[in-house]
Amino acid sequence: MILSILKNIFFLLFFILFTDIELISQERCGTVQVTKDREIQYPKYKKKRKNVNKETNIWIKKNYINKSIITIPVVVHVVWSNSNQNISDAQIETQINVLNQDYRRNNIDQINTPGVWQSIAADCEIEFCLAKIDPNGQESTGINRVQTNHGSFGMDNDIHTSSLGGADDWPNENYLNIWVCDLEPGLLGYATPPSNWIGDGDGVVIGYKYFGTIGTVQAPYNKGRTTTHEIGHWLNLNHVWGDSWGSNGCNADDNVSDTPNQEEENYNCPGFPHNAAACNTSYGDMFMNYMDYTNDACMNLFTEGQKERMLAAITQYRPNMLNHNLCNSHTNVSEILINEKKLIKIIDFLGKELNMNTSNKNCIYIYNDGSAEKKIILK
Ligand SMILES: [Zn+2]
Repeated sequence: MILSILKNIFFLLFFILFTDIELISQERCGTVQVTKDREIQYPKYKKKRKNVNKETNIWIKKNYINKSIITIPVVVHVVWSNSNQNISDAQIETQINVLNQDYRRNNIDQINTPGVWQSIAADCEIEFCLAKIDPNGQESTGINRVQTNHGSFGMDNDIHTSSLGGADDWPNENYLNIWVCDLEPGLLGYATPPSNWIGDGDGVVIGYKYFGTIGTVQAPYNKGRTTTHEIGHWLNLNHVWGDSWGSNGCNADDNVSDTPNQEEENYNCPGFPHNAAACNTSYGDMFMNYMDYTNDACMNLFTEGQKERMLAAITQYRPNMLNHNLCNSHTNVSEILINEKKLIKIIDFLGKELNMNTSNKNCIYIYNDGSAEKKIILK
């Protein structure tokens, strides 16, 4: 009898626990869902998106050239309702630094890429800058701060619509729009993959707890890799496991030939090799790829195949990123002129002003930028 009651309690507890997990479980990256929603909302996007994989494969076969560095101008819209969410400029800069390290393979943890994949780990030759010119041609920091009364954001239009409590896009064909805001629990970020039709809301949305490496970031997503991952989607990368699970898991493809087949996503930080038996691959899952779901500290590479796909995406669907001056300030030349260092005074060590032509005395040169130089004559 007692055993039977205990058994029932056990099953009840198990049921509650299981149901709770079901309730709170949500994809941490919303890109697959957002793409589906967008295809319903914008028929033109869907129509053009259908051809993207075909066009990309043709482009890669015919046109793949190892181009010089591409620099993508970024605007970061910080949409905040309390000071914690209004992340600092310094925090934003740490994210740009992570992107420039990860997309140039200058990340210090590249040594953690298993030896068998070092030769296909790519310097993607893509860099990022905070835009120095805004859509009106005015000087800019590339950071747009907007206060809101909106609660946490989901994956609808609110975040990119100022009248709904978000921040309006800067022209999507010219800038990578990144919105940083409070996202609903469990959701780290999402992005819109490219198509010939680009519209409102194109860009990347990241939770303020997962953006950059300092300030409000929370472990284990505190190394800026959520944004590295989402920009991968924005440049047409799929999840490395191909977004299919169960019996079809190994057959689903991420449309990249040098990433091994993978049954499903990975979490936390597995040891290498991992899951080699699942899809009968030589070295198992490439769980340290930026397009998996492992912890930030566990991720460290894009492959050459992923690089090709991203360059194809820029050239075909985001061509304005190739030629622009949005990373160069108008004022560079005049700033240099203003900041030119001029000698304004020469004094001796007692503070007495000396003739500007003084050359044979121990003295101090004072410049207009506030700096000073000591001159000591050695005899
Ligand atoms: Zn994703």
